[in-house]
Amino acid sequence: MDFSSLVAAKEGVGAICNGVKALLDAKEFAAVHEKLLPLLGAAVDANGKLLDVQTVADAAHRRIRELEAEVAALKDWEEDKRRYRLHEVVPGTFVYRVDPAVHGAEPVHELCPNCYQKRVKSILQRGGVEQQHRTLRCPECGSTFLLDRIEAAGYTIDPEPLRSLRTF
Ligand SMILES: [Zn+2]
Repeated sequence: MDFSSLVAAKEGVGAICNGVKALLDAKEFAAVHEKLLPLLGAAVDANGKLLDVQTVADAAHRRIRELEAEVAALKDWEEDKRRYRLHEVVPGTFVYRVDPAVHGAEPVHELCPNCYQKRVKSILQRGGVEQQHRTLRCPECGSTFLLDRIEAAGYTIDPEPLRSLRTF
């Protein structure tokens, strides 16, 4: 017997086995590839849906932060507005004046009643003279509030008209 032929045959069988194995591997890869493609498609679709969910979640978080800020501002306003009382500065002119019992170190001041109803704290400022009346003016909404009437010519304007109007 020729041992070299046996070695060659063994080598040939080995090569065939390797080739079959390679074919089997290729066949398995094709099967896996065939099953993998739909999975990859599903994964891409799921990833897109996750991004959509993330976008919705981000918007929801933003809205929650906005609402929390609004609630905090409302709580602050509700607490602050208790410090003011409706006050008739002169007959027919109403403003909100800080309660003298709680104004602390702040100077006595008045708030615009229009802005007050809209939860805006707008401190009235001294305005000019309109229709022969001293005025208070709202810097926020521009409303003007008539105060006392300035009498005939020859008058002198009190340099502190608001102070003279305050009764407390
Ligand atoms: Zn106002």
